[in-house]
Amino acid sequence: MSAAPREFAREMGRANPGRYRPTHRRTTRSPTRNHAVVIGASMAGLLAARVLSETYDRVTVLDRDTWADRPEPRGGVPHGRHAHGLLARGREVLDKLFPGLTDHLVRDGAVVGDLQGQVRWYFASGSLAPSVSGLRGLAVSRPALEHEVRRRVGALRGVTIESGWVVRDLLADPTRGRIAGVKVAAVGSDGPPRRIAADLVVDASGRNSHSPDWLRTLGYPAPKEEKIRVDVSYATRHFRWEPGSAGDALAVIVAASADSAQGGAMIRQEGDRWILTLGGYHGERAPLELAGFRTWAARQAPEFGAVASRAEPLDEGHYFRFPASTRLRYERLRRFPEAFVVMGDAVCSFNPVYGQGMTVAAAEALALRSCLANGVERLGPRFFAAIRPIVDVPWQIAAGADLALPGTPGRPPLRLRLINRYVERLQRAARDDTELAEAFLRVANLKAAPPSLMRPGRMLRVLRKGSGRRPAPSRATRPAGRRTPIPAVDTEASGR
Ligand SMILES: Cc1cc2nc3c(=O)[nH]c(=O)nc-3n(C[C@H](O)[C@H](O)[C@H](O)COP(=O)(O)OP(=O)(O)OC[C@H]3O[C@@H](n4cnc5c(N)ncnc54)[C@H](O)[C@@H]3O)c2cc1C
Repeated sequence: MSAAPREFAREMGRANPGRYRPTHRRTTRSPTRNHAVVIGASMAGLLAARVLSETYDRVTVLDRDTWADRPEPRGGVPHGRHAHGLLARGREVLDKLFPGLTDHLVRDGAVVGDLQGQVRWYFASGSLAPSVSGLRGLAVSRPALEHEVRRRVGALRGVTIESGWVVRDLLADPTRGRIAGVKVAAVGSDGPPRRIAADLVVDASGRNSHSPDWLRTLGYPAPKEEKIRVDVSYATRHFRWEPGSAGDALAVIVAASADSAQGGAMIRQEGDRWILTLGGYHGERAPLELAGFRTWAARQAPEFGAVASRAEPLDEGHYFRFPASTRLRYERLRRFPEAFVVMGDAVCSFNPVYGQGMTVAAAEALALRSCLANGVERLGPRFFAAIRPIVDVPWQIAAGADLALPGTPGRPPLRLRLINRYVERLQRAARDDTELAEAFLRVANLKAAPPSLMRPGRMLRVLRKGSGRRPAPSRATRPAGRRTPIPAVDTEASGR
């Protein structure tokens, strides 16, 4: 046995490396829990397959894309080439679903660290006060994370991941009250689609999901779509990481604001690399060519400037366009077929201001598991009701930030304007109030509900400390580490 499978087997707590068997007991299965089909083998689809494997005999995950057997960006997930990090809640859920995942990735070069102590968060009013919060996120490239999750899901009993198959339509039973499978075709083939029967279909095909059209064709109403046009262009390059660069930060995040339609994220990656993504809104676009990229980066944050100008560039860079944050209100539909669920970006794809998408997908997978524990009847509507509060928070945060930008069409509703105003004040107060900074990050990490920010003591401090009109120094001139320096990377946890 080679080292890798042995290590894998040890992590899974069993001798046979080939198949990971869940440690929990399967629940008694009704005759309608034989076969589940998942559309999309990206993060949401893989996590869905993980929980479905607990109660379905067979789970087939279909993806139109193909991939190498190593961590590499792939065409079906073009956003995977751009800065991704995993928030604390997402990391915790993934570690529960895949025991030992964080440790495994850290051994391969990913870095785990404190999201307040080792990440610098810049807002229009300044940076959040650093402190040790216990919120531990994971800095790992998206291809590496997806590769390891896919490897583990593919090893689950009963799970098959099929690449190169595009799902063209849903199959319904004769009453059209129940989804009975999918129609698929091999990518590039002109022949008639094949039919795959299923007792449950989960659509995790991302932001371009065809579910609204498929539902319409079957005589169901399509969900109402909420869209916020932001027209963001992301420009991303990789640079060599050196000890001490960017003050040993794990990541540096710059949020766009009413004053600046530019933002970005710089995150440590395995292989001693930085990934630096620069975002420009409403037609602004950072140049990929090195000199222009450096100038743009330096305007954003001192750490961006330092890395872009001094560190060794490792690639020529890539662009990605994110036209709009989009939310489909499935939970409001009065009629919805049995045996069908939509999740992940196919329900809500928001501007990744705080990098919440994979954490939302993880929380949704747990919601799917809870809904299945209560049976399969009306699974879709029960699931959409369960994920509504999960999606609400990041949607409001992203929508609030998007709508505050000059150039975003649409006036924010009064409620959102009030929330925005409060969050702005909170961020200002949190420049030197570590407790407020942590409370804010707990909400952004989906570890606490937004009302926690309105507790009387906190509210008072927000109103008292956050009302100053004094303009903050520009990000580029603000010295890094003006207050408490960022603590050194946790060497034990980071494996260094
Ligand atoms: C620039 C950017 C940065 C981001 N940064 C972060 C971050 O830091 N942290 C974070 O948590 N999230 C981040 N996100 C969000 C995150 O990438 C997504 O929320 C997450 O990938 C979940 O997506 P998904 O699995 O629902 O869909 P996707 O990742 O879009 O995957 C959809 C899959 O479905 C397949 N597919 C599509 N149609 C079909 C079909 N008809 N038949 C078969 N297969 C099909 C595709 O090939 C693909 O594999 C970021 C997003 C962007 C755009």
